[in-house]
Amino acid sequence: MLTTQALHHPSNLYGGRLTIDPEAIATNWRLLESRTGPATECAAAIKADGYGTGQDKAAPALFETGCRTFFVAVPTEAVALRQIVPEAVIYVLDGLFPDTSEHFLNHDIRPVLGSLAELEEWAGLCKAAGKSLDAAVHVDTGIHRLGLSPEEFRTAMTDKGLLGPFRPSLIMSHLACGSTPDHPMNRRQLDFFTEITGPFAGIPRSLANSAGVLMGEDYHFDMVRPGIALYGGQAIESKPNPMTPVAKVEARIMIVRDVPEGDTIGYGATQTARRPLKNAVVAAGYADGMLRRASSTDERPGGFGMIGGYKAPILGRISMDMITLDVTDVPEHLLRRGAYVEMLGPQVAAADLAAYAETIDYEYLTSLGRRFERVYGPLT
Ligand SMILES: *Cc1c(COP(=O)(O)O)cnc(C)c1O
Repeated sequence: MLTTQALHHPSNLYGGRLTIDPEAIATNWRLLESRTGPATECAAAIKADGYGTGQDKAAPALFETGCRTFFVAVPTEAVALRQIVPEAVIYVLDGLFPDTSEHFLNHDIRPVLGSLAELEEWAGLCKAAGKSLDAAVHVDTGIHRLGLSPEEFRTAMTDKGLLGPFRPSLIMSHLACGSTPDHPMNRRQLDFFTEITGPFAGIPRSLANSAGVLMGEDYHFDMVRPGIALYGGQAIESKPNPMTPVAKVEARIMIVRDVPEGDTIGYGATQTARRPLKNAVVAAGYADGMLRRASSTDERPGGFGMIGGYKAPILGRISMDMITLDVTDVPEHLLRRGAYVEMLGPQVAAADLAAYAETIDYEYLTSLGRRFERVYGPLT
């Protein structure tokens, strides 16, 4: 089936352009890698199609710069990734779905075993094979999503009858509050992880996501698993973002029009012109990942775009296919029909937009651009 995305159309037929820079992803990996000691491996979380950037481009860039271990969420992502990086180690964070082990073995993919049931199923497989088959074991240190409870972990890991020949290739846990380093939960999880995995120090251990990498060596153990920071996101809320931007969204101006003082703009008439305004209507909306929650009302400002260095605040509601921007103070020559406006990128940080939308930049990135022209290269 040919979808609109499968065809590549002339650029000027698209409402907008999504540019992704795989080299910037590699640069970000090298920066994170440099923050860890020589005994720590820097892996990459590349789930959700590389946080929306496209794993077919992100994975080769990461592999070429030295990354050898990748974490995806679900088996389908792993099977697709195996074709892209044949020599990499691939872990599936969601673990072993029922009756899927043959696929894991056929594609050389490792589950992150997140429950006793999964561990038992995998250990049974190892017994049948008469050898250990690579898989990670996830222990819950407080987030209460996936992972064996500490009691299950302690009991299972010392039960030779249960494990058979199985020996985990990795023991991992996940931080609940990494984005706020001062949260006491971080230290508690760190101490707990250190204690509970202590008896298994011969097995590689991993606790840190992006925030964990930036929080310092205590959190690094044998492997770190950054995701958002690789894609230019802001892992730690309170600090300046040290990462290089990876994605840029530009939307095209369709029309520029005058709005008389007192008139309203957009669906729901939620925003009133307080003075005579000039607005630009651009061809991007929530169907393109421009989250509707970043809309503007008379009570509460929304997000913004950037045109030639000028800030253009969103006016009224973001609709499915378009956004209206306040360009009253933007010079006329920048407002050509068809001109591009940056809606996210080096000048419009996803984390800043996310603050207006009461979300995090992860949601912006993973929502982006199924209808835009996709271009891979520098963001200039
Ligand atoms: C998504 C994920 C990561 C990466 O997290 P970031 O915050 O994006 O760095 C690491 N570990 C697990 C278990 C995850 O689910």
